Amino acid sequence: MPSLNIELVTIGTELLLGFTIDTNAAFLGQVLSAAGVRIVRRTSVADEPGQIRAAVAEALARSGFAITTGGLGPTRDDMSKHVVAELLGMPLQFDDVVWQAVLTRYQRFGRRPVASNRSQAMVPAGGVALPNQWGTAPGLWLDSPLGTVIMLPGVPLEMRMLMEHEVLPRLAARATGTAIRSATLRTCGIPESTLAERIGDLEDALAPLTLAYLPSVTGVDLRLTAWDVVAADAATLLRAGIDRLRAIAADWAYAEGDTDLAAVVLDQARASARRLAVAESCTGGLLGGRITNVAGSSDVFLGGVVAYDDRVKQELLEVPAALLAAHGAVSAEVAAAMVAGATARFGSGIAVSVTGIAGPGGGTAEKPVGTVWFGFSCDGRVDTQTSVFGGTRAEIRERAVQGALMGLWQRLQ
Ligand code: ATP
Repeated sequence: MPSLNIELVTIGTELLLGFTIDTNAAFLGQVLSAAGVRIVRRTSVADEPGQIRAAVAEALARSGFAITTGGLGPTRDDMSKHVVAELLGMPLQFDDVVWQAVLTRYQRFGRRPVASNRSQAMVPAGGVALPNQWGTAPGLWLDSPLGTVIMLPGVPLEMRMLMEHEVLPRLAARATGTAIRSATLRTCGIPESTLAERIGDLEDALAPLTLAYLPSVTGVDLRLTAWDVVAADAATLLRAGIDRLRAIAADWAYAEGDTDLAAVVLDQARASARRLAVAESCTGGLLGGRITNVAGSSDVFLGGVVAYDDRVKQELLEVPAALLAAHGAVSAEVAAAMVAGATARFGSGIAVSVTGIAGPGGGTAEKPVGTVWFGFSCDGRVDTQTSVFGGTRAEIRERAVQGALMGLWQRLQ
């Protein structure tokens, strides 16, 4: 059975200027698809009455159902509400229940409402005000001969709460019993094109699931989506699909869902009762930061040394000066000495070191920008590996962190 089709109109000049990232649209895409509602088009418009009116009118003409976010607060003179009320032929009326809720909220925070707050109690005739305990402007559910418009505040917390408490329960009443569900397999260390080549014809065999390749600085996520299927069937279909992808990408597939590679590595170390230490040069603490971002990391992670300057490599990690002079700080020899130093200093079963050229300067023909050497130490066995990463300084550093974690993951398998 096809799902309910909805168009999304996010309102705010700052969205077009790029100062605000449209996280509302991303959130709505996720929760609505999980509820079996398909967003068929997304439009962002400036806080400008003509633009708002045109976007909502076009969305209704195409799909008969629109959700808007933004432009409901008193600072914008409720611009969106005025425009949409007029478009739908639902004149604004003062609603005493909404007004009392606005007053109660102001009293709770010891503030007095100003004149413009009264406009928040104006509700299009025949519409339903969706109570907003998290802010002052209520959401609106407007059924009209032109179609249905749900209007939500722009503030992300208020929008999310109204969705959860007011909109989704009402949409459930119109639900078709189907859902749109996704599952993700996370990979690292294999380029998107190589992955696509390996998956090849399997993509067709995965039908009715669709497959999306989602590359990022940290790897390629493979996302399978089941469209318009009964929710219980979706889980079984997705499980089987993910297992088939896993069989192909086993050497690079480190997790499912949104699990971070750092969490997976910590679990591996925990399972073997080994503790972890790091020695970082070009990543300057980012690796330790990523690891300690995982709740519960303290039972595995001992600590690290940010050995940025060669003197620190010598003094804290006991990297011999002669080694640095002979091979340079970015070399297999120094990466090995750094990881051996970290293992000795922390007494850890596992350690990793990172030394590289993050750029934009400092590259040579022999060691171009992006060259990174990793040292790994597992139960006293030390080995090294190198990569040349592309991108900006920030991207190279992020790729180096992921490379260090991936190297650990492979060795702890
Ligand atoms: P207010 O009463 O604060 O004016 P509003 O409903 O009129 O609320 P906006 O003024 O459009 O909403 O946006 C309020 C804030 O919410 C913005 O400063 C912005 O940070 C955030 N915001 C608005 N729209 C979005 C969006 N689509 N995605 C993420 N954040 C958003």
